[in-house]
Amino acid sequence: MDFCVLGKTGMLVSRLCFGTLTLGPLQANLPLEAGAELLIEALDKGINFWDTAELYRNYACLRLALKKTGAEPVIVTKTYAYDAKGAKASLEKARHELDLDVIPVFMLHEQESGLTLEGHRRALEFLSEARERGYIKAVGISCHTIAAVRAAIHFPELSVIHPLINYGGIGIKDGTAAEMIGAIRGAHEHGLGIYAMKILGGGHLSGAPEKAFKFALNLDCLHAIAVGMASRDELNVNLCYMQGLKPPAQAIKRLAGKKRRLKVETWCIGCGKCVAACPQRALALRGRAKKSAFVDMERCVLCGYCGAACDEMCIKVF
Ligand code: SF4
Ligand code: SF4
Repeated sequence: MDFCVLGKTGMLVSRLCFGTLTLGPLQANLPLEAGAELLIEALDKGINFWDTAELYRNYACLRLALKKTGAEPVIVTKTYAYDAKGAKASLEKARHELDLDVIPVFMLHEQESGLTLEGHRRALEFLSEARERGYIKAVGISCHTIAAVRAAIHFPELSVIHPLINYGGIGIKDGTAAEMIGAIRGAHEHGLGIYAMKILGGGHLSGAPEKAFKFALNLDCLHAIAVGMASRDELNVNLCYMQGLKPPAQAIKRLAGKKRRLKVETWCIGCGKCVAACPQRALALRGRAKKSAFVDMERCVLCGYCGAACDEMCIKVF
């Protein structure tokens, strides 16, 4: 496994970051032990960089893996808080549920622009103070927009960005892949640590994974790439792609029939909360007698935000 210093944070991270959304209740919903075992196997294979979020509801799984190994991976988590009170609650929840005194990287989740960052100013100030007091090592943002990447360099509190980038530009809300790369390069020149999300375009590019990995690995402005994994086969295959090796044919065969999909269960009540939560405008309410949510899989990037917004627990990625 190759390692890289995550920009000005100085933290040494594996170039493959374990995207853990896939482990938890919004996606594979693995039993705690099974999720923890996969994280431990990833640690054994050199992956010391884990991406999570309060939204993913999987802190217990990460905590179990930490407890079993005593390892100290670089963990990134994220909050939707916009004020100091919310940010404090999110930080305390993460510290308590992960059983960590210090969170390596704490992010504002799903930022869109300088305006949204300004709207989260109080939360950002709280996280920045928490960093000065030693509860967090670095503060960052995750985003699906070029505008947020461009804005980040104007907020000195930020030292890490988690932007969406893939060779098809799938999921970028406000421009092309080339424009996103230009923005990422600008942030990289300012010393920010940058690790990519959705290099496989939320499954849309999974027919050409070698090309997707090669594209991301060849971007010298990315320190690492996060990929969601929920099985040993996915872990081993992704490790091969990271090294430019051909993955075992049997593992590829087993994964071939497992393209991730999003399903809306029949008990959907048509409240529309998921529609409002979807950054890709992939959901709509349809039906005459009974409205319910429908997904356009051409637009969906399997980010999981809709599932977290559904109080009825009727959106599943499987
Ligand atoms: S949030 Fe849940 S219940 Fe409401 S429309 Fe979406 S899927 Fe249906
Ligand atoms: S439908 Fe759900 S998983 Fe797909 S892009 Fe929208 S919020 Fe993300």
